[in-house]
Amino acid sequence: MIKTKPRLACVDPPRLLAGLDEVYRLDRVGHLTVHGTMPALRADELVALAENIDLRGRGGAGFPFAKKVQAVVESAGRREGRCAVVVNGSEGEPSCLKDTALLLHTPHLVIDGAVLAAEALGAEEVAIAVHRQDVQESVAAAIAERGPSGVPVSVTVTDDRFVAGEGGAVINGISGAPAIPNGRKIRTSDSGLSGLPTLLSNTETFAQLAVAARMGALPYRSVGLPTEPGTTLLTVGGKYVMETPTGVPLTYVLELCGLTPGQAVLVGGYHGKWLDPKSINAATISRESMKKYGARLGAGAVLPIPENTCPLGETARIARWLAAETAGQCGPCFIGLPALADAIGQVERGGGQSSIDNVRAYVNSVKRRGACSHPDGTAGFVTTALDAFPEEFEAHALGAGCGRPTLGVLPLPEDALPPALPPAPLNPAARDERRQRGRWRSSWWTGRCARAMGCARTSFRPRC
Ligand code: SF4
Repeated sequence: MIKTKPRLACVDPPRLLAGLDEVYRLDRVGHLTVHGTMPALRADELVALAENIDLRGRGGAGFPFAKKVQAVVESAGRREGRCAVVVNGSEGEPSCLKDTALLLHTPHLVIDGAVLAAEALGAEEVAIAVHRQDVQESVAAAIAERGPSGVPVSVTVTDDRFVAGEGGAVINGISGAPAIPNGRKIRTSDSGLSGLPTLLSNTETFAQLAVAARMGALPYRSVGLPTEPGTTLLTVGGKYVMETPTGVPLTYVLELCGLTPGQAVLVGGYHGKWLDPKSINAATISRESMKKYGARLGAGAVLPIPENTCPLGETARIARWLAAETAGQCGPCFIGLPALADAIGQVERGGGQSSIDNVRAYVNSVKRRGACSHPDGTAGFVTTALDAFPEEFEAHALGAGCGRPTLGVLPLPEDALPPALPPAPLNPAARDERRQRGRWRSSWWTGRCARAMGCARTSFRPRC
């Protein structure tokens, strides 16, 4: 199966992508030539460095890395110092390719960061989770090039699915279980790989750490915003992986990739937010700027939607795919997300104004009711589409449509099943019946995860 190959780009001299203008992949010799040798740090020095450069997790949540390290140190202190390090390279979001790009083109940088952390913590192993075969081959080759010395490093291919990047799902996948969330919150810093306190962070986070450890905090802070120093990786338009200092205008990033903002720009991937043209013109690449517009950079996906495609059709495609990505453990996710996708289909097929109300009702009924963030993120994606494209939703609901075909510009995995056609509009009697059913459902949609709550009343079972 041919997977999308990232196309690399940069604003200003790159750090993470350094040397890749000359070669396709930096092997061990090339890596050491470009980046130099790696220093060693104690745990307190690691924490101080991460604090000094305000290193945040680059997988979406943006949690401070120093706090993660401290939590593992404390937890390991209660377990005779035993702990592990996990690199999360399970990039299940189809609009993101940045971790894939790092592991394909410069795997030693990521391994350096993980080994640096592992040695500082006295960890027993470093495990790397990926979901692409070509990425696994690149990482396995890098591990072989480094030889057997030091902390053992391994790479595992886990399930290629949207929720496989959640922390618990990553640990499950490496352990040989289905890569799905646990259904209840367990902090990996308390219990992760083999039940050990585990420092789990995103691929880019470890690569940034490797760069910062070599440079030192002060030089690292010399680019980007003073409040968010350094560079960040973005995936633009689903195929360009761009390294840019923070603070650069969003429009400049799009322009360098030969893209225009079009109707709107989705920032933060399929759990992200659509920015309207006015916000796009003012926004810069930073947490603070995105926050002003109610958005988050998340894992760095930036997706403009061109003028010639139907935004409702694009939303419906992604909503159907997200619904199919449920891990099947929590009713509001397993049942609610397909119902939400179905409701969007009704709008698309001219279901009347009430079909839009239906979409909003389903959004509200899935929120805060999953054991992980998948239902909330999907509901947020639909809400932001309703807010960004109200005229298109109304035009479709009233039957005329927006006059544009759905071109499928928002990326989905190459092997994803073609999304099902939306169902035909319901007749009024059927709609009444469905509303009745909706009321009945909402009466028992009170639990979180069936597994977590141990709820005997639920009739659905985990599919995995
Ligand atoms: S909310 Fe959905 S994806 Fe998350 S654990 Fe429950 S069923 Fe799985």
